[in-house]
Amino acid sequence: MAGEPQTDCLFCKIVTGDVPATVVRESDTTVAFRDINPQAPTHVLVIPKAHYPDAASLAAAEPLVAADVLREAGQIAVEEKLTETGYRIVFNTGAGAGQTVFHAHAHVLGGRGLQWPPG
Ligand code: C5P
Repeated sequence: MAGEPQTDCLFCKIVTGDVPATVVRESDTTVAFRDINPQAPTHVLVIPKAHYPDAASLAAAEPLVAADVLREAGQIAVEEKLTETGYRIVFNTGAGAGQTVFHAHAHVLGGRGLQWPPG
């Protein structure tokens, strides 16, 4: 069923604690943790606790939870002192765009200059 935990999903296992992660924030609906392979001084992932394969399917099924993900991303930017220098919230969607984990997640990146367009 949509949103239900998937036994073969790495990020579902982070939600349950079966896979370790450096958690920086948690809400009723989301978990945020440091990326294991950081691409910037701050690189945090915000995920919904419910399983959806990407951000668009999350937003279509549970728009309030999608909003929670964005709110948490903004709070991380405040806590990591990124709001003056700027930061980026990224949702890679589809393998062709670099998505490797098919559980919706926002990358929050900052603490260095960020180029546009991204590669
Ligand atoms: O957008 P994409 O699907 O490629 O992002 C997945 C991210 O999950 C990667 O940046 C990867 O480093 C991160 N990751 C992690 N902890 C794991 C496995 C992957 O932070 N145990």
